[in-house]
Amino acid sequence: MKKFKIILLIIIISNCYLLKSQENPETTLLNQFHKITSEEMMEWMKKLCSPEFNGRFTGSPGFVTSAEWIAGKFREWGIKPAGDNGSYFQWFDWPYTEVNDIGSLVLNIPQADGTVIRKSYNYPDEYYPGMNSGSGEITAEVVFVGYGVTAPDLNYDDYKGIDVKGKIVLMNRDVPYTDPGNPEYAKWVKYCYHQYKLENAVKHGAAGFLYIDGIGANPNISYDPSIIVCGIGSQVLSDIFAGTKTTNSELTAGMIKSLKPASFRTGKNMTIRANTTRHPEGKGCNVIGMIEGSDPELSKEAILIGGHLDAVGKAGKVVNGALDNASGVVDIMGAAKAMAQSGISLKRSVVFILFGGEENGLIGSKLYADNPVFPKDKSVVFINLDMVGNGTGFSVNASAPWKNLLSYFESANTKYIHRPFRGSAPEPKGFYGRPRSDLYNFSSIGYRTMSIGTTGSYKKVYYHLPGDDPDAVTIDIMEDVAKMIYVALTNIANDSDLKF
Ligand SMILES: [Zn+2]
Repeated sequence: MKKFKIILLIIIISNCYLLKSQENPETTLLNQFHKITSEEMMEWMKKLCSPEFNGRFTGSPGFVTSAEWIAGKFREWGIKPAGDNGSYFQWFDWPYTEVNDIGSLVLNIPQADGTVIRKSYNYPDEYYPGMNSGSGEITAEVVFVGYGVTAPDLNYDDYKGIDVKGKIVLMNRDVPYTDPGNPEYAKWVKYCYHQYKLENAVKHGAAGFLYIDGIGANPNISYDPSIIVCGIGSQVLSDIFAGTKTTNSELTAGMIKSLKPASFRTGKNMTIRANTTRHPEGKGCNVIGMIEGSDPELSKEAILIGGHLDAVGKAGKVVNGALDNASGVVDIMGAAKAMAQSGISLKRSVVFILFGGEENGLIGSKLYADNPVFPKDKSVVFINLDMVGNGTGFSVNASAPWKNLLSYFESANTKYIHRPFRGSAPEPKGFYGRPRSDLYNFSSIGYRTMSIGTTGSYKKVYYHLPGDDPDAVTIDIMEDVAKMIYVALTNIANDSDLKF
C-alpha cells in the first residue's frame, strides 16, 4: 500500500513537471503579468514618499537611504548589482544646501510721514525660498535686469550701464531669443541656464536675486554664499512694477522683438531672508541592477531603462516627488520584479538605472553616460521614464529611425492592456535642443532613445511643489505602464530576429 502511494506521488509530480515544461510561453508571460498589482506599487510609492526619505534630495541622507532601499528590493528579486565594485551603486560627491525654514520676502513701502509699511508675502503661493541660496538677510533696492544675460559674442548685455552692486536683481528665465528652430538659437543656449544667471549676477556684485516665475523648488542653480535667492510669483511682480508705467510682459515683449536690453532701477526696496545650511560632505548615486542575458551572443547586448530617483527635497515643506518621479521609479520596479521572477529566461541583458541628481542638472545620467555598464554600441536602446503616473493612455516616443522598437509596446497594449496609445518616431521636435531630462545625456551622444509617458492626465499636477504626494498619482495607469514595459522588454530581449 505504501509502495503504491509512493508510485502515485511520483506520477503526480512528474506530470506536474510535464505540465510546467509544456506550458505555453504566453501563459508563462501572462502568469507574471497578472502579478503586477497596483496595491504593491502603491506600497512602494508611499515608501518613496515617506518622511524617512525626506524628499529624496540628492546629497542628503534621505536620498541615500532611498537608494539603499531600492537596492535591497533588487537583491530580494534576484536582480544583480551592476554598479561600482560589485555594488548596486555608482557614487558621486554632491554638496547640497539644506533650506531650514521658509524664510521671508517683504516689500518696504516708505510713507510720507517717514514711516515704512512692510508688506509680507505668503509661502508658497507668492514666493518660494531659493534652494541654493546663501543664508542671511538682504534689504536693498530691486533692479530689473531683463534676462540677466551678458553675451559679448551676441552684442547683448542686460547689465550694461546699470549698477547692481549690493542691490537685488530681478530677472526672467530663459533668453530674449525665442526661436529654438533657428540655428542662431544655439548661440543663446548657454545663457539660458539658472547656474549661469546666478553666477553672472554675483560677478556684477548683486547681493539678492529675485527670479520671476520662480514659484516651486529649483535646486538646479549654483550656490554662492554671498547672494540671497528667492523665486517670486505674479503678485510680487506686479507690486514691484506698480507705478513704473510699464510691466514685465510689456518689457519682455519689447526685448524679444528688438533683442535690446530694458534694464532699469525700480525704486522698490525689499527684504529677503533665507535660512540655509551648506553641506559640502553630501553624496549622491545612481542605483544600477541587471538581469543578465542567457544567450552566448545576444547577452552582450543590453536594453537600458531608467528614471530619476531624486526629488527636490525640502524648502519649507517637503516636496515628496510622487509624480516627479517616484512614479517612473515605481513603474520600472514593477516591470523589473516581473522580469526577474517570470521564469522566462531573457536572451539579451536588461539594465535598470535609477538616477540621482536629475533635479540638480542631470548629474547621475551624465555620470552613467560617461561610465556605462555596457558599451554604447552594445546598448540596444535607452528608455527614460519621467513623471509617468497621471492619465488614462500611453504615449511612447522613439528617436528616429528606430520606429520598429515602438511596435513591441504597441502590440503589448493592443493584445493585453487596451489603453489609448500614441506612438511617435522621431520624438516631437524641440525635445533634444535643451537638456531638460536624463534622456538628453544619452540622445546627445548617439544612443537610440525612447521615452514613455501618459496622456489624458486628469489629476492636478504639483510640479516641484508641496502636494506632490501619493494621492497625486493615478496608480492604475502605473500598473498598466509596468505591464506594458514588462511584456515589451521581454519580447525585445528575446527576439533573435531583431538586429541592431
Ligand atoms: Zn522629473
